[in-house]
Amino acid sequence: MAQAVCGRFAPTPSGRMHLGNVFCALLAWLSAKKQGGSITLRIEDLDKPRCPKGSAELLEDDLHWLGLDWDTGGSNGGKDAPYYQSRRFNIYEAYFTQLQKQGRTYPCFCNRAELHAAQAPHLSDGRVLYPGTCRNLTPEQAAAKALSRNPAQRLRLPDATVGFTDGHYGPYAQNLAAECGDIILRRSDGVYAYQLAVVVDDALMGITEVVRGCDLLSSTPQQLYLYQLLGFEPPSFIHVPLLTAANGRRLSKRDRDLDLGSLRQRFTGPQPLLGLLAFLAGLLPAPEPVSAQELLPLFSWDKVPRSNIIISDELLNPFQL
Ligand code: GLU
Repeated sequence: MAQAVCGRFAPTPSGRMHLGNVFCALLAWLSAKKQGGSITLRIEDLDKPRCPKGSAELLEDDLHWLGLDWDTGGSNGGKDAPYYQSRRFNIYEAYFTQLQKQGRTYPCFCNRAELHAAQAPHLSDGRVLYPGTCRNLTPEQAAAKALSRNPAQRLRLPDATVGFTDGHYGPYAQNLAAECGDIILRRSDGVYAYQLAVVVDDALMGITEVVRGCDLLSSTPQQLYLYQLLGFEPPSFIHVPLLTAANGRRLSKRDRDLDLGSLRQRFTGPQPLLGLLAFLAGLLPAPEPVSAQELLPLFSWDKVPRSNIIISDELLNPFQL
């Protein structure tokens, strides 16, 4: 029997959800539900100080308002609880230790300023490719440095190409050494990195389909490498286009006028907003009020555009709907 599809919402509650987050959540929901699958809600609050108190609750309230229900996770709990990354550090620690025992990790004492000063190549997403400064420290050198600084922990990435077929963008491959560089698994303040947490959580929570913004396409090969090292079966990955402002800049939580706080005031209810997103996703010929359920028969990945989608001010005028 084919495995049941399990999709997920994996928001970071660093602020209110914005239109782009909702676009992605809607597509994840439609894809899973269309296949008779379920959705898990995981709150990605690893970096607790960046997540204001009450924001996870607001996020759930926004998803309820939109009619994007989830089957397990968040405050509903479920068999893989806790669904808050901030409460799963002991789990990440166990997998980090496994990688450490395999000799895949090393302590890194570089700080941000030193990395920038090293003039290491910048990657297309603006990150600096780690130049490997601490890769070959002897245990004695590392111990001496540890006296004055807490190290981060990095994963040694090999000079190997990892590829996969994205469910929306097709084949995609990266050379790990040249295009990712040794990634951080644990920061110097002890917080586990997204790259490790997301792999461990998706695997342990039985996620079979990851739908997320295409800004994370380039993180997928390194995550697949972690799946391989940890002996997990990877899910399928489907990346979706980003929503951008008129000048091409991707929407972020700083765009307060496009967060759900203001959109819930601007739109009379969830249906006009879902109608706008369905139009942007190619599911409707023009924006018109619709519920998430009503979109199920209209949903197909072939209709969803691949290039990023510009949100003009006119589109956000609900009186046009
Ligand atoms: N937590 C991430 C975000 O809100 C998403 C991570 C993922 O989907 O893998 O952007």
